[in-house]
Amino acid sequence: MEVLHPDLFIDSKIKSAVEYKQQQNRCRIKFIEKLYSWCSQPVDVNNTFICLTTRQLLSTCKHSSVLYIDCTYKVTANELPLLVFGTSDFNRRFYPMDVCLISSDESFETFKIFFRDIQVWASTINNQAYTVSHVMGDGAAGITGAMCELPLASRLMCWVHVILEQDIMQLQLSFSDQIFVTAAKAVEWVKKIDKTQILQLTTFNFVVPSNDQKMNTLTWVNLLHSMAWDSYDHFNDCLHSARLLDFSCFLPPIFCTCRYGLKEFACVHAADMMMLWGTRQMPQEIEKRRGKGRPKKVKYPLSKD
Ligand SMILES: [Zn+2]
Repeated sequence: MEVLHPDLFIDSKIKSAVEYKQQQNRCRIKFIEKLYSWCSQPVDVNNTFICLTTRQLLSTCKHSSVLYIDCTYKVTANELPLLVFGTSDFNRRFYPMDVCLISSDESFETFKIFFRDIQVWASTINNQAYTVSHVMGDGAAGITGAMCELPLASRLMCWVHVILEQDIMQLQLSFSDQIFVTAAKAVEWVKKIDKTQILQLTTFNFVVPSNDQKMNTLTWVNLLHSMAWDSYDHFNDCLHSARLLDFSCFLPPIFCTCRYGLKEFACVHAADMMMLWGTRQMPQEIEKRRGKGRPKKVKYPLSKD
């Protein structure tokens, strides 16, 4: 391509002008024949955003307002990410809506463009408004970041990816959001707790360190008995450094002095003590977290590990 313009005299400007022109040409690719001819030209794989769809595929959005997204790195040349978007009906049948070949690794900008445009395309094709109510995907930060384009939609995480990435199996048994959050915190607490800081005061009373620990639990117990606080701040630090649990009735509700224990009669401390004793089952760990994004070594589809 040749660029002749009186204002352009630096190589980089010419390069930018050529890239801009190419970008404009790409936007005009609306039919598969043009895509074929574009692919036969030398292509810059670092600046690619190709979205393939048809009217029929876009019409499947009427089955559900939930948009499913996943990405694979295994099926393309140059190991570029291939995004697959779709939806499903009540019989769990999946309907692909389009596939995108992108050069940016699941970036925030990519999803932002896509979320903005897919609603316009689907609404135009179907002659009725298409509004996404939920976006289901893996833990990609790009999807979460781009949710600002869909202010009315909720972000869901696919359960298969929760198992793979969060090492947690049995949280799905939680029957309310509050129990789910408490259970998730309990798993983290058990993993990081220093067990030497858990003290037994009496047959049924235990002291556990809090998240905001300003003193060790032994000092805390001594101060509890002596009540020899130097100042109000010292008392305040002491108050929030540890929690006192009462297991005199061994089954829940368990008394705990943390604010969740006092209000809800169910807190991470009570749940974790029972997990440590084995009276409550620990959520199963599946495998080491795989990590997000493009794997370092990409395998071919249907190949064995
Ligand atoms: Zn508690």
